[in-house]
Amino acid sequence: MCKKIFCLLLLLGTALHSQNYFYENYQPFDKGIPSPEDFLGYGIGEHHTRHDLIVAYMEKLAELSEKATLTEYGRTHEGRKLVMLTVTTPKNFSNMESIKSQHLAFTDPSKSPTNYDEVPVFINLGYNVHGNEPSSSEAALLMAYTLVASQTPEVLNYLENAVIFIDPTINPDGRDRHTQWANTYQGSPEVADPQDAEHNEYWPGGRTNHYWFDLNRDWLLAVNPESRGKLKWFHNWYPNVVTDFHEMGTQSTYFFEPMKPNASQDPIMPKENYEDLNTLFGNAFAKSLDSIGSLYFTKEVFDGTYPGYGSSYPDLQGGLALLFEQASSRGHRQTTAFGEITFAFTIRNQYVSSIATVETAVSNKAYLRKYQQNFFKSALTNASNSKIRGYSFGDPKDVNRTKAFIDKLLLHQIEVYEDGDRFVVPTDQPQYRMVQTMFETYDKYRDSVYYDASAWSLTNFYNMKSKPVNKVSLTNEITSTDGLINITPINKTAYAYILDWDDYNAPAALRYMQDKGLVASISSKPFTVEYRAEKKLFNYGAVMIPVSLQDQSSDEVFEIVKKAQEKYEVPVVDVTTGLNLDGVDLGSRNISPIKETKAAMLIGEGVRSYDAGEVWHLLDTRVHMPITKIPMRNLNKADLNKYTTLVMVSGKYNLNDKQLQKIKDWVYGGNTLITLGTASEWAIKEELVKEELTTYPKDSTAVVSRKPYVDSPENLGKENIGGIIVKADIDRTHPLGFGFVDDQIPVYKNNTVWLKPSKNAYSTVVKYAENPHIDGFITEKNMEKYLKPSASLIVSKVGSGRVVMFADNPNFRGSWYGTNRLFLNALFLGDKINVPE
Ligand SMILES: [Zn+2]
Repeated sequence: MCKKIFCLLLLLGTALHSQNYFYENYQPFDKGIPSPEDFLGYGIGEHHTRHDLIVAYMEKLAELSEKATLTEYGRTHEGRKLVMLTVTTPKNFSNMESIKSQHLAFTDPSKSPTNYDEVPVFINLGYNVHGNEPSSSEAALLMAYTLVASQTPEVLNYLENAVIFIDPTINPDGRDRHTQWANTYQGSPEVADPQDAEHNEYWPGGRTNHYWFDLNRDWLLAVNPESRGKLKWFHNWYPNVVTDFHEMGTQSTYFFEPMKPNASQDPIMPKENYEDLNTLFGNAFAKSLDSIGSLYFTKEVFDGTYPGYGSSYPDLQGGLALLFEQASSRGHRQTTAFGEITFAFTIRNQYVSSIATVETAVSNKAYLRKYQQNFFKSALTNASNSKIRGYSFGDPKDVNRTKAFIDKLLLHQIEVYEDGDRFVVPTDQPQYRMVQTMFETYDKYRDSVYYDASAWSLTNFYNMKSKPVNKVSLTNEITSTDGLINITPINKTAYAYILDWDDYNAPAALRYMQDKGLVASISSKPFTVEYRAEKKLFNYGAVMIPVSLQDQSSDEVFEIVKKAQEKYEVPVVDVTTGLNLDGVDLGSRNISPIKETKAAMLIGEGVRSYDAGEVWHLLDTRVHMPITKIPMRNLNKADLNKYTTLVMVSGKYNLNDKQLQKIKDWVYGGNTLITLGTASEWAIKEELVKEELTTYPKDSTAVVSRKPYVDSPENLGKENIGGIIVKADIDRTHPLGFGFVDDQIPVYKNNTVWLKPSKNAYSTVVKYAENPHIDGFITEKNMEKYLKPSASLIVSKVGSGRVVMFADNPNFRGSWYGTNRLFLNALFLGDKINVPE
């Protein structure tokens, strides 16, 4: 016997790679099933396992055992397989159709089954959403083996009473990026020194996916194939319990739910989820971790308010989502203040918690089912208690943006109906809570420090005007976005084609035509043409393609414009005269050729990879336009004259004088620098532009009152802006404002970059509105002293070039379809901005 403290150090400091370290409670195992060690040729924890080997092991289990099947639910951007291993008894497999329909009956509020205890509980063990938090995928291998091969009565009982879905790697692209790193730098003997390269990943690290998106924010936004595949799977199975395994800083222990009490409650969640279910499971995790001597903590940190986490979204679907955070060994072995921490030790904690999850779910099967049934039934009750019968939305001027929004609603199984040229979602539907999530905003908060965003009303992300209605007509249900857009195909003309810039896909269509060699012009004034015996008004920014001036024949021009229209489903008209019914004529001086954009972006150490990834993703996946990613380390030798436009997203830029001069000279020569967030602050501080930041003079005579030390994180934390939605006034006549139809737009703010409106009367393109609050938490001080007097977007002349400065992030999480337009205007129309002095 050793004293507890010594036992603990022994566990932390010794890599016990023998199978017993993990499996001692689950012997004997079916001899016909290879253990992960047998299959891989090394012990779990000795190396980081590549995703293809993880998939291969799961395939092997499915091939050898009657207790497992493997399905693919998607492919990542880099083409890796997203897989789900289903484990249960052969008997349950043979009745799966019936089990599934019995299970789904509990999610259908129109049915009232009572066989709570007779249907196996559905458990989804999800692992490794953050690629460089690798312990959990290794635990997934141990879990799969244990469930498939252990012969203990406990494990056999789990399989009889549960259908267990193991998703071994939610983010394979990120995982492999980190795996490659950790294995590449692994020493022999292993180096525990935290300063070793093995423990210090290079930019951008493996946390995120291919486009550097955090997939643990993407469950609601569903931008990436990993989440889209997962959501489709999810709404096919509605698991009762879902795990979400993570790692945190090395100098910590282990965390499981309950989370921070106040903020962690989404206002629309049943309290029972947080107060009863989390406590029930939390007590079980405590017991399991106690039994192996592992330290842990609960309740102090993290919140589940934002509904797009893996540990919150399933809560909005009648399930129980569980967050786990293991102190990371980040590498195979690292020295910490608690002693040495090994990869194997971190894996074991995740494995033990996985088993405890299954055990607790099985023994509370009936309770979880009743809870899920009540969840969906109460959705209907809540809806009937509300005065609002539905939300009407849509933007007939921008059908592609509307379509993208409907795509999101459908992915979350929200019912949508056609309503004239608009759409309506009724509140009376099982997904009422998702309707609230998408359409409702909040201005009362139970807490002031948030782990992430405090605003997520998606209508605002999409700049989708919506209004509550007290009557809905449910005739034409929309079940797919296919065929939602009816474009009128153009006819061939010898004169000109006009592309409506108001449509979300118009920049992509423009880029397509430019890439095929067409010269397009943009109109800085509105005009009205006669089109097929009707008047058609074009807003600021309409794009004209004159036929006779092109190098191509009129047949070739027609083919290119037609293809652009078909590919992007954009509104284009053909005209046979330059004389317009109203506004400027087509030969006007206000309609001038657009120079083709050649774009580059600085990336690498110091640059916020999320924001850079959002730009890259937008251009790749929506505009289909290449952007050159220049690593900061190559800035000295990079030839900037190849580009018309350079993007600098938020980050910490430490450019030396020579590098700064290089960028200044390049802008001065007539090019466009686009800065976002802290890069805009940087441009002002480095005097690249003659603009200022909003400051508020500190009162040096004010008496500072003493405050308890323990309150400092709360007091200081609330001045951060976790993520809010505010209203801003836009100048629609400015090239940066082209394509908007309203004078006010929602913008997303998650920083404290405060741009002072420019001294130039024509430079402040977007300014926060007088009463700006739409959604999310901001302190009174930040609101009154900083936000209200500030600008969201200004442009400043530098020589013959210009710097376009965004205070906010117009491309946030690939989901801000509304403000994407501001960014794309800066990218495509930079040289149209001639700031008058
Ligand atoms: Zn994580």
